[in-house]
Amino acid sequence: MILSTLEKYSKNFVPTIPRTPTNRYASIILLRETKSYAIFTTEGGEQQDVEQTPAGLSHPEPTTRLVMFKRKQVAPERRMGKALLRQYGIFPYAIQNGQVVFGEEALAIKEHYEDCYLTEGLCTHCPDCLIYGYAAVEGEGARKARLMTDTCFSVRPYELVQKQVKFNVIDEAKHTSGTITEYDYTVPGVFLPAVETTVDLTADEFVYVLGNILRTPRYGKEGTRQGFVRNHVLAIAFSDVELFANLEFTQALYDAFMADDEIDMVERGLSLVDFQKHANSVIETLTQNVAGRVELVTGEELQAILEDVRALNRDETRFAQFLKDLHVRSATFTV
Ligand SMILES: [Zn+2]
Repeated sequence: MILSTLEKYSKNFVPTIPRTPTNRYASIILLRETKSYAIFTTEGGEQQDVEQTPAGLSHPEPTTRLVMFKRKQVAPERRMGKALLRQYGIFPYAIQNGQVVFGEEALAIKEHYEDCYLTEGLCTHCPDCLIYGYAAVEGEGARKARLMTDTCFSVRPYELVQKQVKFNVIDEAKHTSGTITEYDYTVPGVFLPAVETTVDLTADEFVYVLGNILRTPRYGKEGTRQGFVRNHVLAIAFSDVELFANLEFTQALYDAFMADDEIDMVERGLSLVDFQKHANSVIETLTQNVAGRVELVTGEELQAILEDVRALNRDETRFAQFLKDLHVRSATFTV
């Protein structure tokens, strides 16, 4: 186990990658906050993705919310993790007689893996493939993800978090102004509460997932290189059941804000402080009736874990060894 701060929680992780499920859930409860204009659309969509949902758990009136689909959340984090594996020399690698070899030595072996990329070129043996899963790959079958999440929703209604922006495209060669294009944008400062639930990860695999969440700054429409999003981790919950849906989290926060006279979601909007004020009690309310064991990690204990993950990511030598060890354990895993 790489992080000493996770040692006391070791019973919530598997000692080695398991062949069968054991219900060890670790949920990363977070807020995704736009820090720039962003566009959340499915491929080719002109308008952003929205959905009508009941406003709160105790406010049944319908409200239209901005949505961020599951793939839009997890794909950037997977890409970040894979880029790290490349950066730290995990590729190319080969597996020979149960041993993992890297670099030149790997290239000399006929069956080696030069890279791993979404969606066509998944190698099926690296930490990314074993944690986030993959659809059927020839000769390898499919692997179920050990990380689950679903669509997340803005707390405030769509009308308040969106803006139409018109651009007059200037043709530089002809010095003429061309067509006016209109874009549908999410404004900065929009919060999307989300939970990423991992199941049956080793402590080190969990550290890899958490690192990817802390490192990934850009989400939204692919190819635009925009949409700076800051992920704030509010809590980690260990349990033997799944806890709550992202929508329920958003709705429970909405209820809490409606009941708070100091918060005006329409006129003033929401700030991180508002979420920090209510998050703990909302999470406790949502988890108190689940049919299973729950252990919440918040406050100083949470900050210690997050700082431990950040420190590991800053320390090049230690991080390189961590990724290498993680990869060796993934690549030597056999069903
Ligand atoms: Zn892979």
